[in-house]
Amino acid sequence: MPNHELLDSSTTTEISKNPYATTPLMQQYLEIKSRYPDCLLFFRMGDFYELFFEDAKTASKILEIALTARNKTTENPVPMCGVPHHSASPYIYRLVSQNYKVAICEQLEEATAGKGIVKRDVIRVITPGTRFEAESLDSKSNNFTHAVFKPNPHQKKIVWATIDFSTGSSFFGEHETVSEWLQFVSTHSIVEILVPQNSFGDEIFTQTRNLRPQVATEILPEFYFGTAYAKERVLEQFKTKTLSSIHPEVESSVEPLGALIKYFQETQKTEFIPTLYQTTPWNIGKTMHLDSATVRALDLIPDRNSSGGKNLSLLSHLDRTATAMGGRLLKQWILEPRLDLAEINRRLDGVEFFSKNLKVCVEISKSLSEIYDFERLLSRLSIAKGRIASPRDLSAMVSSIGHSVQLGFLKNYPVLEVRANSLFSTLENLFEYARYLAPNLTSPAPLLSREGGIFQKGFNAELDELIELCANGESWLARYEMSERERTKISSLKVRFNRVFGYYIEVTKSNLSNVPSHYIRKQTTAGGERYLTEELKTFEEKVLHSEKRREELELQLFREHCEKISSFSKEILDLSTWIAEIDVLLSFSKVCDEYEYIRPTLHDGEEISIIEAKHPTLSVLLERNPPYTSFVPNDFNFDPSKNFILITGPNMGGKSTAMRTVAVLTLMAQMGCFIPAKSANIGIVDQIYTRIGAHDDASQGESTFMVEMSEMSYILRHASQRSLILIDEIGRGTSTYDGISLAWALAFEIANRLKARTLFSTHYHELTKLSLLCSNVENKRVGVEFQADGKIRFLYRLEHGSTDRSYGVQVARLAGLPSTVIENAERVLNDLEKKKVNMAKKSLSSLPNNDDFQLDFLK
Ligand code: ATP
Repeated sequence: MPNHELLDSSTTTEISKNPYATTPLMQQYLEIKSRYPDCLLFFRMGDFYELFFEDAKTASKILEIALTARNKTTENPVPMCGVPHHSASPYIYRLVSQNYKVAICEQLEEATAGKGIVKRDVIRVITPGTRFEAESLDSKSNNFTHAVFKPNPHQKKIVWATIDFSTGSSFFGEHETVSEWLQFVSTHSIVEILVPQNSFGDEIFTQTRNLRPQVATEILPEFYFGTAYAKERVLEQFKTKTLSSIHPEVESSVEPLGALIKYFQETQKTEFIPTLYQTTPWNIGKTMHLDSATVRALDLIPDRNSSGGKNLSLLSHLDRTATAMGGRLLKQWILEPRLDLAEINRRLDGVEFFSKNLKVCVEISKSLSEIYDFERLLSRLSIAKGRIASPRDLSAMVSSIGHSVQLGFLKNYPVLEVRANSLFSTLENLFEYARYLAPNLTSPAPLLSREGGIFQKGFNAELDELIELCANGESWLARYEMSERERTKISSLKVRFNRVFGYYIEVTKSNLSNVPSHYIRKQTTAGGERYLTEELKTFEEKVLHSEKRREELELQLFREHCEKISSFSKEILDLSTWIAEIDVLLSFSKVCDEYEYIRPTLHDGEEISIIEAKHPTLSVLLERNPPYTSFVPNDFNFDPSKNFILITGPNMGGKSTAMRTVAVLTLMAQMGCFIPAKSANIGIVDQIYTRIGAHDDASQGESTFMVEMSEMSYILRHASQRSLILIDEIGRGTSTYDGISLAWALAFEIANRLKARTLFSTHYHELTKLSLLCSNVENKRVGVEFQADGKIRFLYRLEHGSTDRSYGVQVARLAGLPSTVIENAERVLNDLEKKKVNMAKKSLSSLPNNDDFQLDFLK
């Protein structure tokens, strides 16, 4: 984005030479457009926003609106399209959702005949990260804008900062490599990334362009990230003199944070981000950092790239939140399970409290359902002094504050008392203000501030008078006439209006002696005299200007209250954070009650023991949908002496479901949620790593096998002894020998060196011999039963022991392959089994710790 404050004189000269600059209007357009070359310029002309030249061609195609031309008959017709200003929002957001930036250019003064061209300028640039209107945002997701910076060009380290301008949430942090940073970006709701022009090579752009869903990348001049310049922006924003008073560690990310603030100022034409009160280090050391493969493999959040199909995500299953803030927090909790026992137990206590206090839940639910999105209402009401807010936002804010007052009764319950007490003690002024304003707002509130009708009668005397003048000018006149007749005792006195004199009082000749001295004579007519009075003059002025004045006054009052609301930003954001948490805990307790979840016990040890574990979403799906089968629960036990479970069994036998169950339940427990099991004792896991399912990444030029190997490499480099690793069917995308060798070597590396808690499922039943080499490996198999007709039946029960054969052909028969294919496959299989090769001795001779070990691979 160019620096819009600067437009040098050479640009102005060039515009005058432009063949299209034939009229003052086009010159004005070209001058403004030259400052926003990278935006689609919505140029206000009367009741329309018009777009010209390439902007018109692009927008007309995307918006499917007619492309016409201005100056059609001339040598240089200008491509043009337009949308009505009062219904422009959906068009603007359609363009922004496709990562275009839209500059809104307004008329800054009223058009006056003979005064020449009206002043116009851009009042706001809308980008994916700077949207505030409710219809343009997903209420249950954050809308983060992110900025990256390389503190040392010779090192890989990246520092970053991120702000959701629509809620004020902000974090900062760092990553050692671009690929680690990409993992972060792809799992957090980041919609726009700001990158300094020269600090990164092309690599970062290719990588960010390939992110799915797509993220807009904005390349900014280096000065946005200049340390001194950025620091100044940050200190101004937080109204402080030292960075450490914002956060002791914020200095390390001051460049990207400053760039974000500057970007906001430039696009929103404002000095401050009204909702930004604090920024904290991204939970390093306090939460798990789930990579994108794990988020996808465990179906934690709905996959925005897949269309159709059943939504089986954990988020959808657990989401009973009533507020948008609660919805966003739930998503954050799912993606960032905690590592600290104290916080996890605090949340579990909350869920338990709600589960045991139904009456309280009913009360809270009632209030929560009346509370709107505080954070986004606040951002709209505060940005640019309410310029983009609607009276409905003000009314929703005030009524939401009113409904939050009712939640104060939670102070009486020990589990919630501490936070509730300290919060509510700071909110009295806010509540007082809401109590005062609420009865003064009309309901339902008008949609547009210019429409009027925002405030109730009695709120402001001048406004009441103006409204009455507009609506009841006639009746005022009638009353005035009546009172003047009584006062002067002239029963024929009339108040009239004509275009030349405006309002006047007419008195017939016979009554002239009774005319009071303060009447100002204006005209003599055949029948009498016409007079003015000060009152009538004031009335006339008021009537003539009352419509305009009413609009101005009401707008001014509305904006004053928007500003007043924004002066309570900190209180509102604190209240919102607390409500979001209550909402999530209540949502957990509702799900837990419905499905009879139990409270897990968490500890810092390495044991994990979950008895009768069920997969939360699959179990519901199976029970709800035909043929209505029950989910078979399983037990899982890990301790340091047995922390590597190797699962074998047929396809479709339930191996990956078993593995996912352990991971999802551990994650839920560390989120602070109850889980579907009979009992659970869970040693905190620092990270969950998964290598499940086959997918390629054609956009990155990676085949399925390459993706598989890259994920394994990532796991081996990052996992620790406290991690939980799930590996499903590694080594399938290559030849059998390659596959077995790799699977063997990887399993050995994890069991022998990493010693992380691991579930490893494989069709290479030969790997079960690993338990002879590593005592911490335990073999489990998923049970099957052979039926009289030779077919197999899946039991989905995890049993001790291993399978010594594969069941691929039987499963293929169940899938309905033609009998000729099945019989042929059986013949080939028999043949191969007779010619088995002993490759184990050879391949294992180079492995450590296996001197006395003989392996019967493929025997
Ligand atoms: P493959 O080796 O082909 O990937 P798999 O052994 O990993 O198969 P899953 O994908 O876990 O098998 O399960 C296949 C299907 O079996 C599931 O979609 C579900 O319908 C059913 N299933 C799995 N586990 C259970 C269970 N514990 N109880 C009931 N049904 C189950």
